[in-house]
Amino acid sequence: MAGASSSAAMATSAVTEEEMTLTVKWSGKEYTVRVCGDDTVGELKRRISEVTEVLPKRQKLLYPKAGPKLSDDSTLLSQLPLKSSLKMTMIGTVESDLVLEQMDAPEIMDDFELGQDEAVDIKDKEVNKQKLRRRIEQCKIELRNPCREGKKLLVLDIDYTLFDHRSTAENPLELMRPYLHEFLTAAYAEYDIIIWSATSMKWVELKMKELGVLNHPDYKITALLDHSAMITVQSDTRGVFDCKPLGLIWGKFPEFYSSKNTIMFDDLRRNFVMNPQNGLTIKPFRKAHANRSNDQELVKLTQYLLAIADLEDLSSLDHNNWEYFIEDSFKRRRRQE
Ligand SMILES: [Mg+2]
Repeated sequence: MAGASSSAAMATSAVTEEEMTLTVKWSGKEYTVRVCGDDTVGELKRRISEVTEVLPKRQKLLYPKAGPKLSDDSTLLSQLPLKSSLKMTMIGTVESDLVLEQMDAPEIMDDFELGQDEAVDIKDKEVNKQKLRRRIEQCKIELRNPCREGKKLLVLDIDYTLFDHRSTAENPLELMRPYLHEFLTAAYAEYDIIIWSATSMKWVELKMKELGVLNHPDYKITALLDHSAMITVQSDTRGVFDCKPLGLIWGKFPEFYSSKNTIMFDDLRRNFVMNPQNGLTIKPFRKAHANRSNDQELVKLTQYLLAIADLEDLSSLDHNNWEYFIEDSFKRRRRQE
């Protein structure tokens, strides 16, 4: 990642926060997308994906004088000679076989740790706050079930958190993390539940339907979110990456959810970078066939969720220590008996 810091330096000098409308030609039609100078090519592709349904990784973009920079997803749009008067051309095909799409998706990068200072920096950077504000304005969250007064909020990742998406099985239920339905049923008593995956909405819906999460008699899912709700941020040491800003949900439903009553489980810590106090890094569920019989994470995490459900402010906890917390509260209860 040697080039990351130099491109970050360029970004500060060239960034324009001004929004711009680009016209994209694809398959004989024209589409418009709104972007900013501090968006990356990767984000531009996501915006194009929302209007065309061509997945970002299937898109090839052509633009006069843009050169090879346009094929690098981490390039900032401010580094390209974009003008509203010129049209961009996209070449790409809509994906119809969702299972195939998922199977050949690139393996997600290993989790990486950002330095404490750097993580704080990303969260507080004006350019990232600005991105979040724009996402709150642009992104629509469709409620499948109403938000409930007085409930806290649990936000859950899918891949490796609830489901082993890399193993193969005849029935997807074999790849489901053990105790998923029991966990969601118990959590639902105290928490509204939102599922947020970095994949596409079609895949999120398909997967959740297959696992029986969307029509379960004992709990309800408030909403599903996908990659289009994420934002891209820049770090000095790790370059550009995507994250899941909970501020989006808080901005959309301020009367129900806030940093005080929200907790999010994800196997990738970097997804919490905009709200580190609200994230719990779950042990990834991989190799389902070997681990299905002994994975107890969701049982233990149920105890944690219920143990903290009465607290005023969840963000005052250090979720890294969740296992000690349930041991301690178990001991406290034993002493009281
Ligand atoms: Mg994951």
